[in-house]
Amino acid sequence: MKRILIVGGGFAGLSAARRLGRLRGRVEVVLFDPRPASEFLPLLPDVAGGRIGGERLRYSLQAAARRFGFRFVQAEVSKIDLANRRVGGGFDEEAGDGLLIACGSHTDFYGNRELAARALTLDCVADGERIAAAVRDGGWQTFLVCGGGYTGIEIATHLKNRLRHAQDRRQVVLVEREERVLKGLPESLRRYAEDNLQRCGIEVRCGRTVEELAEEAVVLDNGERLPKTLLIWSAGVRTPQLLDGLPGERVGQSRLPVDQNLRFAPGCFAAGDAAGFQWQGRPLRMGIQFSLKQGARAADNLWRELNHREGRAFRPFDPGYIVPMANNRSCGRVLGVRMRGRPATLLHYFMCVYRTWGLRNRLGAIRDLLLPGRSEP
Ligand SMILES: Cc1cc2nc3c(=O)[nH]c(=O)nc-3n(C[C@H](O)[C@H](O)[C@H](O)COP(=O)(O)OP(=O)(O)OC[C@H]3O[C@@H](n4cnc5c(N)ncnc54)[C@H](O)[C@@H]3O)c2cc1C
Repeated sequence: MKRILIVGGGFAGLSAARRLGRLRGRVEVVLFDPRPASEFLPLLPDVAGGRIGGERLRYSLQAAARRFGFRFVQAEVSKIDLANRRVGGGFDEEAGDGLLIACGSHTDFYGNRELAARALTLDCVADGERIAAAVRDGGWQTFLVCGGGYTGIEIATHLKNRLRHAQDRRQVVLVEREERVLKGLPESLRRYAEDNLQRCGIEVRCGRTVEELAEEAVVLDNGERLPKTLLIWSAGVRTPQLLDGLPGERVGQSRLPVDQNLRFAPGCFAAGDAAGFQWQGRPLRMGIQFSLKQGARAADNLWRELNHREGRAFRPFDPGYIVPMANNRSCGRVLGVRMRGRPATLLHYFMCVYRTWGLRNRLGAIRDLLLPGRSEP
């Protein structure tokens, strides 16, 4: 029987494991992840804003292992030997015939240790719950979100929305290093988002960055000092350090360059955020649609390689994107059509619920969305 090792049980890893579940009896699949559950990241800003309970976003990997027929090892992989398809860490080393890397990405502090120690991030459910608790704690005067991309904007609107519902006048500030938010998006969508941030009462500081972290205060590079400020860092992501030790080049955000079949070495494939798949001249955007599809395709191709068959190229289908904003004024472009306002918000939540693993989580997420305020302790 062949043996396949999967590193990471998020969208790509779990999708691969599910696919390989069809070959039960012919392949043994071992999946490694330090988290006990696969987490649904797109709804993390809703957890931070107290709209959805964190438990809705966790899908037990042990339960998934029983359902799809793999062995789950709850451990972080810290060593990979590509030539022998062997992984190790704080557990007995395991070797396989094939290896699939699906370890995702996390917040990038660009080497700034002080920032990493002081700022909150939004990489997992526990982070969302930490931010929600910090908002409940009346000690902070200002919530400063650093990073004016999709996620930063989404977090800022959720925090402001939550404060507004509680008639809490504490401020939310969004800091962006570029001259405008949402770099790379069409002008009309950027303008719509900027207007909406203003309408929400979020103070936006573009062309600025964090210069210094003083005791409980944050100082911007123009000297502006924000006392009693909680800093939430959302200014970029990169793949985990685990991949730094592997031989070869990396592409944007330290992703593993893969070929059209998602392969990067003999018997070794990558999928999801970890994979630097080139599409239309640049690395494919990170997103759940691509991760799910890549996980399944990488699993198929790995199995084909182990059986000396040609792999099949991964051809992404890009349905578009939405910038979700908590006051129901989201915007984006879906299937080539520009969307704004409530329809964009509804579509975002519909897709999130549809993509959530497990019926219980789905129903719970719907309940929290329809009955706001019920998710808070
Ligand atoms: C706040 C937020 C909002 C987002 N919103 C959207 C959205 O609206 N739409 C959208 O399409 N995308 C969104 N994304 C991006 C999307 O969530 C990612 O592209 C997707 O999760 C990538 O899937 P993945 O399987 O590659 O990684 P993940 O889902 O991150 O899974 C990676 C897994 O690998 C595990 N892992 C990491 N290191 C190791 C290791 N050393 N050993 C073993 N396991 C390891 C992790 O614990 C994790 O379970 C959002 C992301 C965030 C953070």
